[in-house]
Amino acid sequence: MAELTPMMRQYFDIKKTCDGILLYRLGDFYEMFYDDAKIASKELDLVLTGRDCGQEERAPMCGIPFHSCESYIAKLVKNGHKVHICEQTEDPKKAKGLVKREIIRTITPGTVIEASMLDEDCNNYIASVYLSAVGVGVCFADITTGEMLATDMTGSNLSAYAMNELGRFLPRETLVNPAAANEEQLMRFLHDNIECGVEEIREADYDPDACMKLVRARFADLDGDAWENHPAVVCAVGALLLYLADTQKSDLSNMDTIQLYHQGQYLELDMNARRNLELFETMRTKEKKGSLLWVLDKTRTAMGARLLRQWMSKPLRNPNQIAQRQKAVGELKEDFVRRSALTDELRQVFDMERLISRIVYGTANCRDLRSMCATLEHVPAIRAELAQCGASMLQVLCSSMDELEDVKTLIKSAIVDDPPFSLREGGFMRAGYSDELDRLRDIASGGKGAIAEIEQREREATGIQKLKVGYNRVFGYYIEVSRQYSDSVPAHYVRKQTLANCERYITDELKQYENTVLQAQERITDLEYQLFTEVREQISAAVHRVQITAQTLAQTDVLCSLAEVADLYNYCCPEVEYSSVIDIRDGRHPVVERMLRDTMFIANDTLLDDRANRVAVITGPNMAGKSTYMRQVALITVMAQMGSFVPAKSARIGIADRVFTRVGASDDLASGQSTFMVEMSEVADILKNATRFSLVILDEIGRGTSTFDGMSIARAVVEFIADPKKLGARTLFATHYHELTALEDLIDGIKNYNIAVKKRGDDITFLRKIVPGGADDSYGIAVAKLAGVPKPVLRRAKQILKELESTAPKIDLHEIADEPEDDQISLMGMQSDEVAEKLRAVNVNTMTPIEALNLVYELQKMV
Ligand code: ADP
Repeated sequence: MAELTPMMRQYFDIKKTCDGILLYRLGDFYEMFYDDAKIASKELDLVLTGRDCGQEERAPMCGIPFHSCESYIAKLVKNGHKVHICEQTEDPKKAKGLVKREIIRTITPGTVIEASMLDEDCNNYIASVYLSAVGVGVCFADITTGEMLATDMTGSNLSAYAMNELGRFLPRETLVNPAAANEEQLMRFLHDNIECGVEEIREADYDPDACMKLVRARFADLDGDAWENHPAVVCAVGALLLYLADTQKSDLSNMDTIQLYHQGQYLELDMNARRNLELFETMRTKEKKGSLLWVLDKTRTAMGARLLRQWMSKPLRNPNQIAQRQKAVGELKEDFVRRSALTDELRQVFDMERLISRIVYGTANCRDLRSMCATLEHVPAIRAELAQCGASMLQVLCSSMDELEDVKTLIKSAIVDDPPFSLREGGFMRAGYSDELDRLRDIASGGKGAIAEIEQREREATGIQKLKVGYNRVFGYYIEVSRQYSDSVPAHYVRKQTLANCERYITDELKQYENTVLQAQERITDLEYQLFTEVREQISAAVHRVQITAQTLAQTDVLCSLAEVADLYNYCCPEVEYSSVIDIRDGRHPVVERMLRDTMFIANDTLLDDRANRVAVITGPNMAGKSTYMRQVALITVMAQMGSFVPAKSARIGIADRVFTRVGASDDLASGQSTFMVEMSEVADILKNATRFSLVILDEIGRGTSTFDGMSIARAVVEFIADPKKLGARTLFATHYHELTALEDLIDGIKNYNIAVKKRGDDITFLRKIVPGGADDSYGIAVAKLAGVPKPVLRRAKQILKELESTAPKIDLHEIADEPEDDQISLMGMQSDEVAEKLRAVNVNTMTPIEALNLVYELQKMV
């Protein structure tokens, strides 16, 4: 180390304190050295050079320009690196010896604040999980908006609760305590399902007393007792606050409110349900288009877009709160004129939430302040519209919306209308805002008056009437006299330049004047920056009022969006109540009905309750519309609980505590485990966690194994779910095991339905209508025909099927007692069972003709 240059020594001293990539400021560049340089040069496609560091070998080095560092940093962070920004913390001109440098901020996936690294329609959460033997605390923060939430749970299933909540918020980064880091399932979930960065925090940072002090100090407006019985939350929040303070080196004054919520406040949707119901993105393409959000999102602001996502990920469970939203949506739905007036204003609103955060962090520039001001221009009109509304939620929005007249006036009076992007060149403070600035500007702009005065005085003193004072970049200020008067020039004029017919001179007075001008220019840049930061700080002080206004604008936007969708697509207001009934008339699938081009969506009724209609067993051929129908019921429930109107003629929705979904093994699922294993663990999860208030969607369970296995499992599951003593959850159960329709007669609460098809000869037409009763046939061959399987194969398959049907005994579940005897199963002819099983297992939709022929050949060998 002794040989290292002083700069490199400084570098290493700082690097010792880092656990990520260090960006070391050197002039106009951020440089990286050694391994950091090697990683960055590869990931960012930069040239790897070297720098003399005092040692024999040059230090590997690469750098990124300071002025365009954001995109590079974004890439490093996206690749999972922590990036430490080390700045020069003193003016190099004033420094004696080596310039002081310090890490001013650490950027991690959860602590990004740069607009270019964020998706404006999504929150960027960082989470913190504290797991102990008795409880789990989970906390979420979005430092770009200042939002913070936390929840906890005691008892068993702690990791499961944490995973549920993590799935709701989808953080970009999660802090975990050592106990949580040891939970294999939780870690796998974070890495594989949420794909977020995980940071293990040492136990010492969870000291209960220190954490309690931190939370009490920060959330002063929350009753101190609120924390008393929630030690796990206190630790989760405390450690997160420490981490944020450490990485941001800022007091984060935009984050001093927190919402504590508890289990049971929101409808629970686990990752499976979220994915299967395609709430935010489609399962296959991961695009917003084709998701429920895509249908519902008519928001005009980024704040509204984010809030809509929040409402969707946290549907409510309290009918009164839901009714509040419904009334507001209803009023805006009916009043097209008011809604248009509101949306016209909202369209021009900027992202106030993120603007105020940048203002608080001191990274906002003049344009950000002007955007804030431009937004505030629209607040009075929005309030005026809301003031005329009757729904209490809209009235509350109106009364809590702060017009922030003071902030608006301040920005207007301080910042020019169209400021430059950069703060370095000045020219952004408005004339008239500061007397001192105006005076300096007058001097700097060549103080027209001062120049004219000197000119006049010199003319009089020399008697040369054509004498002029001028300025050029090379010589500065000069006095110009035409050649013919050269003789009258006084002795103290110093000649500087001779031109064709004139001479240019300088004088001491002019030199001095020039110095004053130059100094003024320098002062102006400093003063403008100083005034600007003062303005920024003044606005920072209003952070709470700005956040509240931002929230009210976001809510107005979401309510308008839901109203517009309800109006456009003819939705109805559901009755949401504490009951076990789901009674939907003419319900539609909100997304599928928007995607159909040439055909009409066929509406269907649904009736589920906790008595005769607990479980609907739905049969029907592939492609008939079973999945669509079941998902539509779940989506309508989710929409109703978030306060939205729903695609139906009428709907009565008894509040659900959770929605579970399990879709068929043929659908794409996480790889790794066998699909049957995944299916069974999902079924296990449902059976363990569902309650009689849950809504369960089971699509084709028991498919990934042999017929008898599958059918037995399916039956046992239905029996369990339908039994109010065991579970009794409202359930939609689609199955291709026709045999299960026999359960309607055997078990209370089960009803058969099928999706009607019309059959003519070998052809079928899908009617898409759900009707009582089981399907009489699976129409596999008819569907295969529709899918284009060649005629010879179809003909042969029909022949085989006929033979099978005549030889294989029918399975009649009526004959199976509660505890089925083993030998009943062995009565079946094994050979034809194998054939049937093989036939059932194939996916005709995806078969090539060659595969089909091979299959038929194989089947023939078996009979
Ligand atoms: P299944 O689950 O029975 O195999 P799906 O639910 O996947 O069938 O439906 C297949 C297709 O049928 C859907 O993609 C959709 O285009 C169409 N469909 C389903 N239900 C309806 C309906 N009620 N009205 C119109 N088209 C429908």
